[in-house]
Amino acid sequence: MQTETQIPAVRRAETDTAPSIKEDLTPDGQFIDGKFQPSSSPELIDVIDPCTEKVIAQVAAGTAEDVDQAVAAALRAKRSWGRLTPKERSTILLKIADRVEQNTELLVRLESANAGKPFPVSHDDIAGTVDTFRFFAGAARSVTSQAAGNYAEDHLSVILREPLGVVGVVTPWNYPLLMAAWKIAPILAAGNTLVIKPSEQTPLTTLKFAELVADLLPAGVFNVVTGTGPVVGARLSEHPDIDMIALTGSVNSGRAVASGAAESLKRVHLELGGKAPVVIFEDADLAGAATSLRAAGYYNSGQECGAGCRVLVHESVVGQFVEHLVNEVQSLVVGEPGAGDDVEIGPLVSQAHFDRVKGYLERAAAAGIPAAVGGTVLDGPGYFVAPTVLVNVPDGAEVATQEIFGPVVTVETFADEAEAVTRANSGPYGLSASVWTENARRSHDIAGQLDAGTVWVNSHLVLANEAPWGGFKGSGYGRDLSIYALDDYSRTKHVMHNHGR
Ligand code: NAD
Repeated sequence: MQTETQIPAVRRAETDTAPSIKEDLTPDGQFIDGKFQPSSSPELIDVIDPCTEKVIAQVAAGTAEDVDQAVAAALRAKRSWGRLTPKERSTILLKIADRVEQNTELLVRLESANAGKPFPVSHDDIAGTVDTFRFFAGAARSVTSQAAGNYAEDHLSVILREPLGVVGVVTPWNYPLLMAAWKIAPILAAGNTLVIKPSEQTPLTTLKFAELVADLLPAGVFNVVTGTGPVVGARLSEHPDIDMIALTGSVNSGRAVASGAAESLKRVHLELGGKAPVVIFEDADLAGAATSLRAAGYYNSGQECGAGCRVLVHESVVGQFVEHLVNEVQSLVVGEPGAGDDVEIGPLVSQAHFDRVKGYLERAAAAGIPAAVGGTVLDGPGYFVAPTVLVNVPDGAEVATQEIFGPVVTVETFADEAEAVTRANSGPYGLSASVWTENARRSHDIAGQLDAGTVWVNSHLVLANEAPWGGFKGSGYGRDLSIYALDDYSRTKHVMHNHGR
């Protein structure tokens, strides 16, 4: 096993070659009732390019008053939007998908400037956004209720599926537009109106989306209020006229949203953190697993809730596996989006997050956990961290139990199946996991025993709009994507007709 620290190839561009996005920005203010209007407060939030650490835009630090105005607009729009036929809503969602697709380059530019994503990652995000709208345009027309019948004498039961009403949405910074689309598309498809608060760190593409689709949606159906979690997010959570609050974010924000929602007893939909165990048995394709983790552990700089970041490998093959993984990770190219077509790994999103990840690496080193590759941050400007593999990680170590959310994969060993399952299920999260073995009986059995909302077998981090995404335990509840999201964003109603004569 390799134990010396080697920083992988680093590619850096001149920071002033980043394309200007000044022309791409939306008008100032909040997007409420179909148009941009001034926030009730003059306060602004700086939006930073994490490659250059420079301010690239400013957005309104929204207020509770802004939220109230947006909710009032969403309430006014809810009856007519909810009464459209699925076909009519579907047609609009398809037009939204086309509009986003036609503006791919613009949205890629904004997403990469704001989140530091390499261009191929932003391209994936925008393509995913388009497909999400197309999927829900189709799914909206396929929803059926359970068959109705005469269950009480002379009474015909009819089961309707209705929109909830107004949904509040709070999104994170790691996939700004894609995570917004995962909410917006099913919420609109199910006939609801909404108010969304993008992350204060990455609001640019959600605002641009509002501008791009303004002529496709009736005023008030879709509203954006920028601002901080404790102000705008908290008001959305507690607002008495909001019927559901949906958050993708950290566990702490999930707790805050759920407790804010408690007073009004609104529904809560939470997609929270993850720490995906990757369980590799001695009969697995070790090279294949390492190749898969090259993407699944480091994609989006590891700022990925489903990242395969916690390897549990059988003790008899750990040396071979780590050698494969280190070879893969050493070939990752780090740099700014503009630094070349081969750049795969960008910076972390912010100074605060960079400091957090750096802290994990420093404490791991102080605890004697070796880095087989990486293990350090890179010189600035920019919040770059070297893709890292930590090995010989003891059971229960901080880096193996807490969500680092950076380009860091930890490697632990296990002696038998029972230990592998117990250890994989031991953390607070339950979002996703993978099992690697050539034995089909074992893979079925272990997949059944892993406590995670998604389990991959001989794969990791492959998603499809048709399949549900969401977690157990500390990873939250509710499902994104698939017809299960349409279920979550609607309600059933029983209407009973007395036809006795
Ligand atoms: P975060 O919780 O810091 O922020 C997410 C959003 O919540 C932001 O818009 C923020 O302003 C808002 N927020 C913060 N405090 C709030 C409060 N008190 N009330 C209401 N809203 C509040 O998360 P982040 O750092 O932006 O994103 C990273 C986290 O998101 C990670 O934990 C990651 O695992 C998780 N995530 C989960 C999924 C999933 O599908 N399960 C997907 C992406 C990200």
